[in-house]
Amino acid sequence: MANPASNQPAPRPVPADNPGAEKRRSQRVALRVPVVVLGTDRHGKPFGEVTSTVIVNAHGGLVEIKAELNDGQRVLLRNKLSGDREPCRVVWFTPADAGKFHAGLEFLTPAPKFWRVDFPPEDWKIPMMRAAQLKEMGGAISVDEIPRPAALPDEVLIKVEACGICHSDLHMARGEWPEVARAMSLPAVLGHEAVGRIIECGAAVKHLKVGQRVGVGWLYSVCGECEHCRSGSENICSNRKITSVAAPGGYAEYMRIRATHALPVPDGLAPEQAAPLFCAGLTVFHACRMADLYSGQRVAVFGIGGLGHLAVQLALNAGCEVIAVDVSEAKLELARKLGVVETVNTGSPDARQMLRIDGGPHVAIVTAAAKQAYDLAFKSIRRKGTLVVVGLPKEDLTFFADDLVVSECKILGSAVGTRDETNELLLMAAAGKIRCEVETVRLDQVNDVYSRMLRGELHGRAVIKM
Ligand code: NAD
Ligand code: ZN
Ligand code: ZN
Repeated sequence: MANPASNQPAPRPVPADNPGAEKRRSQRVALRVPVVVLGTDRHGKPFGEVTSTVIVNAHGGLVEIKAELNDGQRVLLRNKLSGDREPCRVVWFTPADAGKFHAGLEFLTPAPKFWRVDFPPEDWKIPMMRAAQLKEMGGAISVDEIPRPAALPDEVLIKVEACGICHSDLHMARGEWPEVARAMSLPAVLGHEAVGRIIECGAAVKHLKVGQRVGVGWLYSVCGECEHCRSGSENICSNRKITSVAAPGGYAEYMRIRATHALPVPDGLAPEQAAPLFCAGLTVFHACRMADLYSGQRVAVFGIGGLGHLAVQLALNAGCEVIAVDVSEAKLELARKLGVVETVNTGSPDARQMLRIDGGPHVAIVTAAAKQAYDLAFKSIRRKGTLVVVGLPKEDLTFFADDLVVSECKILGSAVGTRDETNELLLMAAAGKIRCEVETVRLDQVNDVYSRMLRGELHGRAVIKM
């Protein structure tokens, strides 16, 4: 095999059966090879840059470039000396001096022949962190040491203090949303209810400071230019990017966040209290707005989980008569503790009749990820009532046209919420008007939380406390 850099010692193949030798060899010098990195940058602009790469091991290398890349994206590495090409995946990306960036690349071919070298250079010290990663769709989450991210110029880096575990994470981990699954690159760090202190601000960030406590939700970024952004509905931006898909999520010790979406958390709100507001709280806050709740209405909340237990509080605050609906008696007990008087267990044979009392609810907010909950809601909604679709079962929803015609009810979809709504909700929580029922867990308990979530055994929201 020809050595691509003739002035360097010949690269030696790594014996797969001798990890000790691999470690010893890792003390040796770095091998720098001139390469051309080809790809499109994070703004979609094609580039081809001559740089030098440092081979870390048989699996990947490090490059210094000017283009801004995204974690998980593909680039092509061409060896200028040998002409060989290797497709790679960006596994980490961090700003360096003078407008340059360092990127860790992983070869997509298992053992590319001319890269078989194992020399981590001494001057490349990669700060590491613990993160819970999804490695294959439907697989378990595992806690690993991975390179710590750094803030891109328009981002902040936070030291995560708390991250809520949303049922949407579970849908994603099980690959239940094909479009999201296609956009995700594995391994992926999930988590979109994160709160922490800023420890680094990107060069272009002016409005935030190191030390400030901020949080982030489902939206990593929005375009600000599409018709929805311009009409105040950034939550349905046509070009929105999702936290944990566009950039790694909050099941980690550190997380980089687009500065525009890092929202300051009011003092006095504990991180584990604030975190669930960024998705669960915001989503039901927006759903209540969509439904135009007003005092005296009967409002049925289906599913008293992470989202639902916050929805009942918002509806009670609005002066509504709240009916809590769930499959689990323990969840209904939580609703009663929060001040709900009427509760309906869906397993009860007269569940529908109970819901139809007084003509049925004016508003039904379905937060359960179960089609049966929607079937019951369709059947019990009041004439001219409003059914708000929030929970995401994997089956299609169905209804009889006649039921819809006769009741003249409205069916509305509701997608998370806006940054303004998040800020309003955070203030409301800081004033003590809404409170999350939180169970704090460790980073290595995510699988257990998912299992309990599937069995409906969680109480309020499980939040990872770092
Ligand atoms: P969760 O698991 O904490 O709560 C779900 C609740 O539904 C549980 O209390 C469970 O007992 C109850 N439930 C299950 N089957 C039911 C049935 N047949 N009838 C009544 N209740 C039933 O989940 P969560 O984190 O609150 O999320 C709920 C859903 O909302 C998920 O599908 C999630 O993906 C979705 N979600 C949607 C948005 C949005 O923007 N629309 C945002 C966040 C989450
Ligand atoms: Zn969520
Ligand atoms: Zn937009």
